[in-house]
Amino acid sequence: MEAGLAQIREEVVRRNPGETEFFQAVDEIFATLDPVMERHPEYVEHGILRRMVEPERQIIFRVPWVDDKGVVKINRGFRVEFNSALGPYKGGIRFHPSVYLGIMKFLGFEQIFKNALTGMPIGGAKGGADFNPAGRSEGEIMRFCQSFMTELYRHIGEHTDVPAGDIGVGTREIGFMFGQYRRITNRFEAGVLTGKGVSWGGSLVRPEATGHGTVMFVNQMLKTKNTSLDGATVAVSGSGNVAINAIDYAQTLGATVLTASDSSGYVIDEHGIDIELLRQIKSVERGRISEYANRRDCAHFVADGSIWDVPVDVALPCATQNELTGDDAATLVKNGVKAVAEGANMPSTHSAITTFREAGVLFGPGKAANAGGVATSALEMQQNASRDTWSFDYTHSRLEETMEEIHDRCIATAEDFGYPGDYVTGANIAGFLKVADAMIAQGIV
Ligand code: GLU
Repeated sequence: MEAGLAQIREEVVRRNPGETEFFQAVDEIFATLDPVMERHPEYVEHGILRRMVEPERQIIFRVPWVDDKGVVKINRGFRVEFNSALGPYKGGIRFHPSVYLGIMKFLGFEQIFKNALTGMPIGGAKGGADFNPAGRSEGEIMRFCQSFMTELYRHIGEHTDVPAGDIGVGTREIGFMFGQYRRITNRFEAGVLTGKGVSWGGSLVRPEATGHGTVMFVNQMLKTKNTSLDGATVAVSGSGNVAINAIDYAQTLGATVLTASDSSGYVIDEHGIDIELLRQIKSVERGRISEYANRRDCAHFVADGSIWDVPVDVALPCATQNELTGDDAATLVKNGVKAVAEGANMPSTHSAITTFREAGVLFGPGKAANAGGVATSALEMQQNASRDTWSFDYTHSRLEETMEEIHDRCIATAEDFGYPGDYVTGANIAGFLKVADAMIAQGIV
């Protein structure tokens, strides 16, 4: 890391005490920027890095609501509007008890480069609350979403900031938030949120997009080695929207997915995950993953240990940040893994990424591999702006084209900067250049 980068990194740590996930995301970008700063001395002159690591706006607010027993509850809401050089702020909303400013900033920072990499005109942001939806009734979820939007509405808009879902926020929650926005503003502004239901302005393929996109990306990586997912064994972690759709699409392409997980443990199914059963338990009943093994003879549940102990050709971490450690990566490598692609945001630790790269495993970072979700959100914005609705097949083919473009952009940029085949470097630099050039063109703002 060149001296300037190290100094800015120190400033980031000093000005954002305790925000370890944010530091990790900054480090991950900075580690690949030396050749960029060498080639573009004007970036230093224009203070690009110093400006990039400071969000344009950070909003923190109280979210009061009343639970089913009549008890007043208080959560903390966030929206970090990180960078709008390429378009309106864009990024999901996460409801999870682990949410705090450091997690919002890591996600918002990642989103800047991911969104740039899609080639779509969208800036980077993230939002959320330290609210735990687990075990909450539908009425409680609705009241929480309404209270959250009662503050957030004044900060968003189709040309300003366009939130979507993330962990804990799906079509149901987007619906409750959209309804509250519409009521407060008296505007049916379809383009203010993405991930909407299809009958009220949503896009076909948006629910499937992140998981399908990750699978498309890993297949494209495998293609460079003249192989594919057809006949491969796959481990997927998680059992939320991204994981379920990744499992489904990997199996459509001929793979056998052996695993799924939640915070209580994981299941192994030697015959391949039964997607309908998994959907029924996780999306409809909102139950635990152990229930899957109870209902399927060829599956068993593992409460302890790591899902990454299961020997597979391809690993798709689709649960949450830092779920795949250096030790996990070493086990996967020892067991002969050929490719890893991140469906979640920053699921691999720094040491895991190093292990994969040193072992020559194909590694698709989240910024590239899970960009299909936000790219399809941008397609939803296009449909909303033109008051049009596109077919499933057309939208799916646009997603596939976009994932291919992202893949090729990573490869071409990595090659250009002297790191052939390195998707991490390619993704970081390609996203960075686009944002940096737009920032320079727009002056010091
Ligand atoms: N939360 C998703 C992500 O991490 C999607 C964001 C969006 O569609 O705006 O990229």
